[in-house]
Amino acid sequence: MKIPVVIYANESLLQKMISDRTIEQAVNVSTLPGVLKQVVVLPDGHQGYGFPVGGVAGMDIDEGVISPGSVGYDINCGVRLIRTNLTEKEIRPKLVDLVDHLFNSIPSGLNPKEGCVKLNTTQLDEVLVQGVKWLETNGYASKDDLDVCEENGHIVNADPDKVSELARSRGAPQVGSLGSGNHFLEIQRVQEIHDEQAAKVMGIFPGQITILIHCGSRGLGHQVCTDYLKICEASHQKYGIELPDRQLACAPNTSEEGIAYKQAMNAAMNFAWSNRQMITHYTRKSFESILNQSESDLEMNLVYDVAHNIAKVEKHKIDGKEKSIVVHRKGATRAFPAGSIDIPKKYQKIGQPIFIPGSMGSASWILLGHKNSLNLSFGSTAHGAGRLMSRTQSHKQYNYKQILEEIQEKGIVLKSMTRYGVVEEAPEVYKDVDTIANISHDLKMATKVAKLVPIGVIKG
Ligand code: 5GP
Ligand code: MN
Ligand code: MN
Repeated sequence: MKIPVVIYANESLLQKMISDRTIEQAVNVSTLPGVLKQVVVLPDGHQGYGFPVGGVAGMDIDEGVISPGSVGYDINCGVRLIRTNLTEKEIRPKLVDLVDHLFNSIPSGLNPKEGCVKLNTTQLDEVLVQGVKWLETNGYASKDDLDVCEENGHIVNADPDKVSELARSRGAPQVGSLGSGNHFLEIQRVQEIHDEQAAKVMGIFPGQITILIHCGSRGLGHQVCTDYLKICEASHQKYGIELPDRQLACAPNTSEEGIAYKQAMNAAMNFAWSNRQMITHYTRKSFESILNQSESDLEMNLVYDVAHNIAKVEKHKIDGKEKSIVVHRKGATRAFPAGSIDIPKKYQKIGQPIFIPGSMGSASWILLGHKNSLNLSFGSTAHGAGRLMSRTQSHKQYNYKQILEEIQEKGIVLKSMTRYGVVEEAPEVYKDVDTIANISHDLKMATKVAKLVPIGVIKG
């Protein structure tokens, strides 16, 4: 180990991490070239592909590496929260219709055949370079949407030529699709407010209806990761890189391979933000159609959009000195505090909004970035409850009928592409999200603002 591994967890979360490969994987990360300060495991941490999910590592920009395996397959998977001015009373009578409409208008599943905006080669290039800006130009996004998206929905230094033909062909028909598994669109009710001032700035009030969208870069990001894992692995000998786990494949930041991955990853990030924005557009249209009011009447504003899986150059204090480093977050959320230049003007005084989803049958949380996160976790916090058991295990313990009944008893309207998806995503397969939010809050990595509960869920 070149540096320590720091784990933020309670006793039982720690026991779980010890029982799988989470800690071993974090230790492996601490041996990577140019790794700085500490490897962080967040409370939702669990074993991942090479690098633990719920992990953060910072690499030296000159001496360090960039690692596709440490970003993950779903590049810029992330969540965004949309607010409304509605309360549950207003939508409960129309909830089944609303969930149906959303389900029919937002393509989901592994390979949706219909419904996505079909991009030609030039348009795809534009999306990969411009991200949400392209959607603004084409009437699918507002200027306000751009303002409240991490990186304003378009990261610079994205090069479509570094994205393979296969990745492009997988992505071109998928803009505006949810994907499968743990990706979801959820209609929620604000159940508790813990920070009135911050909630007010975000436009959040008790009893309000909100919509949480979770998805990423679909087949395009997945293929970028696959392609560059191979490219990086083939370059290890050239750069004298020896790894404890080949899934951590990486290349020096300054190398041809490292630069190319970064440009392709940035393109995939722009694709993911565009995907979430297109789904936002469809969501607004569904609400308009079912409620017979315009999206502006319904005040369906984006609260914020945060990335889960990224590597980005950020300034952090290392040994007391501010330094540009390459922060890898995998299954982790940026949690920048008030005053940070990287967060929207609107949130400058309070800090960055953070969303921690729980499961389709439990709560989700809104938190606020706090300055302690800079010291504790490279300005990051948890990104979810985190899985407790594998998909295989979930089938051994639960069945579709039982989970559906449990969800319906809670008054939640659920629509899913597949029955097995419901079993694999049962609330019981995830850790307790309140515990995760509380650990973050108590450490002041990010502080609690509001608790949201689901009333309608669409699962990919
Ligand atoms: P990941 O980014 O690792 O794919 O997933 C993020 C988190 O989303 C999971 O750790 C889990 O806590 C949460 N999650 C998964 N499915 C759902 C859902 O249907 N609704 C909500 N609110 N959260 C979910
Ligand atoms: Mn994902
Ligand atoms: Mn995610």
